[in-house]
Amino acid sequence: MPDKLVIVAGGGIGGLATALTLHQIGVRCLVFEAAREMRPLGVGINLQPNAVRELYDLGITQGDLDRIGLPAKEWALVGLNGNDIYSEPRGLLAGYRWPQYAVHRGHLHMMLYDKLVERIGAQSVQLDSRVTGYRKNPGGGVTAFIERADGSRTEAEGALLIGADGIHSAVGAQMHPTQPPIHWGGAIMWRGTTWGKPIRSGASFVGLGTHRQRMVFYPISQPDPKTGLSMINWIAEVTMDNSEGWKQRGWFRQVGVEDFVHYFENWIWDWLDVPAMLKQADCAFENPMIDRDPVPTWRDGPVALMGDAAHAMYPTGSNGGSQAIVDARELGAAMLAHGVTQDALAAFDEKLCGLISQLVLRNRGAGPFGLLNMVDERCGGTFDNIDDVIPPKERAEFMAGYKAAAGFAIEKLNNAPRTIADGERVVTARAG
Ligand SMILES: Cc1cc2nc3c(=O)[nH]c(=O)nc-3n(C[C@H](O)[C@H](O)[C@H](O)COP(=O)(O)OP(=O)(O)OC[C@H]3O[C@@H](n4cnc5c(N)ncnc54)[C@H](O)[C@@H]3O)c2cc1C
Repeated sequence: MPDKLVIVAGGGIGGLATALTLHQIGVRCLVFEAAREMRPLGVGINLQPNAVRELYDLGITQGDLDRIGLPAKEWALVGLNGNDIYSEPRGLLAGYRWPQYAVHRGHLHMMLYDKLVERIGAQSVQLDSRVTGYRKNPGGGVTAFIERADGSRTEAEGALLIGADGIHSAVGAQMHPTQPPIHWGGAIMWRGTTWGKPIRSGASFVGLGTHRQRMVFYPISQPDPKTGLSMINWIAEVTMDNSEGWKQRGWFRQVGVEDFVHYFENWIWDWLDVPAMLKQADCAFENPMIDRDPVPTWRDGPVALMGDAAHAMYPTGSNGGSQAIVDARELGAAMLAHGVTQDALAAFDEKLCGLISQLVLRNRGAGPFGLLNMVDERCGGTFDNIDDVIPPKERAEFMAGYKAAAGFAIEKLNNAPRTIADGERVVTARAG
């Protein structure tokens, strides 16, 4: 096994997928995670077929994913009058060779952590270890600066450093000191979960409303065989004036439903009672819809950014988590081609930075929810037959364009070779 060490800053979904990938291809790595303990934080998240494929290739099974979520069957947009704007099958039903999964983000995170501990050991993730910056060493390699909650400091030296430390990345801040602050476009999301009966296909993602005020909801657990109830993940979203910037405390805080239920008071149909769903929630979190302006490169010599640290994006396309997993696999593929070297990071950067930066901007422009903007512009949001507002061909073309940009165009993905072939390992000679 090559003895060059890769340091990973951040043990979120991207950092853990990177560590699992590096272990699979025979590269030593050590993850430094700021949190003092791993906890199942967050609510729903979608894993697109391109990411599910990579998880399967990492030895994560359908059974593993069924324990933390369920395969999505449909993606639908519905107008405020309850009429369908658009719907399409998802995952296997759409013809992908791999399913799309709707999962609980916290349970996915813990599952990846458990796999890592099982495969490499608990010492592979150093908790209470915040990476505050790095120094590129003259003879090659890199030193990461690490701080613990008690204020004590240490350093760790490796051949490469991967900044997987999320949207508030310290590694990214050093790499791009003039990067503008976090961008907030005015949308606030309240997220939570409620036990309820899944509607439509039983595993449908539903976006309901207009581009300035909407509800998104989808089940993230198989129905309980006794009650028929699933855990329903919901996102209530309202766009407001952002001229004064984000004034609330924190970026992700627990709130009471009474803080926002009034926006959705009249959202009651015979097939859905939004205020009731919100009031029965297990928990609710407020977070502004934020992203970052794309940066020209994700690489600085022996240091590279990945996941949200590289390309924090609006969750409108349900692909932030998926892209973090794909990044991890592409990093692994680059190391297979170039060894544990700076050239590997350059190849990774070259392949993804420009492409995914475009996706960030596309999601900022509403992503696949752009159809709601079109409905609003053309008829003020009220219609009898959507075909009179946006013809079927135009709707299909809009969605196909989005999927191609996000890397989950069906034929392309189905025919693409594996990112990392079975059994491939970085050989010692290449690592040197
Ligand atoms: C607590 C939490 C809850 C979330 N909930 C949801 C959700 O409900 N739905 C959804 O769609 N997305 C959610 N996300 C975002 C989603 O997980 C990410 O967009 C996506 O998975 C990309 O993952 P990432 O690993 O790049 O970043 P993240 O998931 O943000 O992980 C970054 C990790 O790095 C750690 N970290 C941060 N700074 C440092 C540092 N300086 N040194 C060391 N470690 C550091 C963080 O503690 C975190 O574990 C959540 C993220 C977090 C952190």
